[in-house]
Amino acid sequence: MKRTTVEEILLSSMKAAAGQLPDRAAIERYQFGRLRQTIAHAAAKSPFYRDRLAGVRPAEITDHGSLSRLPFTSEDDLRRRGQQMLCVSQDEVARIITMQSSGTTGPPKRLFFSEEDLERTLDFFHHGMRALVRPGQKVLILLPGATPDSTGDLLARGLARMEVASRIYGLVADPLQAAAEVFAEGFDALVGFPVQVLALSRTPAGQSVPAGRIKSVLLCSDYIPRTVCDEVSAAWRCRVFSHYGTVESGLGGGVECEALCGCHLREADLLFEVVCPRTGVALPPGQWGELVFSTLSRRAMPLIRYRTGDRGRLLAGPCRCGSPLARLDKVRGRISQVRQLANGQTLSLALLDELLLAIPGVLDFQAVLDRDKDGERLTVRLTTLPAKRDQSLQQAALQLKELARLRDLQIGMAANPGGLINRGKRIIEDNRGKISHETAYQAAL
Ligand SMILES: [Zn+2]
Repeated sequence: MKRTTVEEILLSSMKAAAGQLPDRAAIERYQFGRLRQTIAHAAAKSPFYRDRLAGVRPAEITDHGSLSRLPFTSEDDLRRRGQQMLCVSQDEVARIITMQSSGTTGPPKRLFFSEEDLERTLDFFHHGMRALVRPGQKVLILLPGATPDSTGDLLARGLARMEVASRIYGLVADPLQAAAEVFAEGFDALVGFPVQVLALSRTPAGQSVPAGRIKSVLLCSDYIPRTVCDEVSAAWRCRVFSHYGTVESGLGGGVECEALCGCHLREADLLFEVVCPRTGVALPPGQWGELVFSTLSRRAMPLIRYRTGDRGRLLAGPCRCGSPLARLDKVRGRISQVRQLANGQTLSLALLDELLLAIPGVLDFQAVLDRDKDGERLTVRLTTLPAKRDQSLQQAALQLKELARLRDLQIGMAANPGGLINRGKRIIEDNRGKISHETAYQAAL
């Protein structure tokens, strides 16, 4: 079984002999050495980290047990004090990525990258894609790529290094039109958001792609539903790989090998941990918690123990491919996006994804929670194939009503006007206001 070639980045970063894979102890020695350098760099150059790391002695940070001596960096720190985290002069900043996440207020997040930082991402994309494609093949990139050094652009340049051609299509707004266009052209592999790739595969043009024409698909940038992996791989008889990465992690974070059992992490550049979201205490492999990482090579804006807000777990034991790299199971979405219902139950987008995207004919959906005098209501707006609109709506309504945790909610269904497709990370919109839980609780007494 072919490994990813992400290991090669680690070997060259560790200056180890090619072909000789290091063991976990050697990888961790390398990582903690880099982390100590990062701490020294950040404390020396950034006003934020100078304050935050006062009293931390880098020499004491030698293993996972000592990480708790380092404070976390939160998303809120990044929003409010991001500028003070910068460790290089403005001249050395090659790219700034600004993110105003949907469903949040306050200042946007701004991430700064140097030329060297971007080169390391490009190198990761280059090596990470070698499990999916061979020289001479052609990849369709369904990610934004118009801006230099954007995700799509870096990926295309990484592929060009291995003589793989690509077309950056960008995000899909109209799947029927996009599918008719791209499947006429023909591609060996696709890279995109799970919902967007699923939508393309369900169109008539997507359904008529001969089995084996598309060899591999890489799903990224969002929660990756099991139902989407299974359906896309069955529809095109192709392998479906997962990627984990965020802008904060430098776009690339980890990618699956042919064994398709967890993303091999980019351990040359990132040190991952999983902690309890409430207490911040580290959790062992196998346990679900909040993903936290520290950057190990970032020059412009290092992040130390950055709390991603993503629910994930590390997998115990080595991969079947023989790689010594740590593996990350499929991330289960944003912890803050799990909605508490008045009946004591919870509702996550991941659950709705698995349920609604499994209905044939559904291309995408939006979910909104609100409340009125009669209690809480979940409204789902479905984007469907035109010919399957009514049956998709009926089936979705039926399945939502059968879901025990939604028993006390009113369920509203609607078809999305104009077939609108989400363009980016999706959330359950929550318009209930702050009082909903308490009021419901009091009413129940
Ligand atoms: Zn593997």
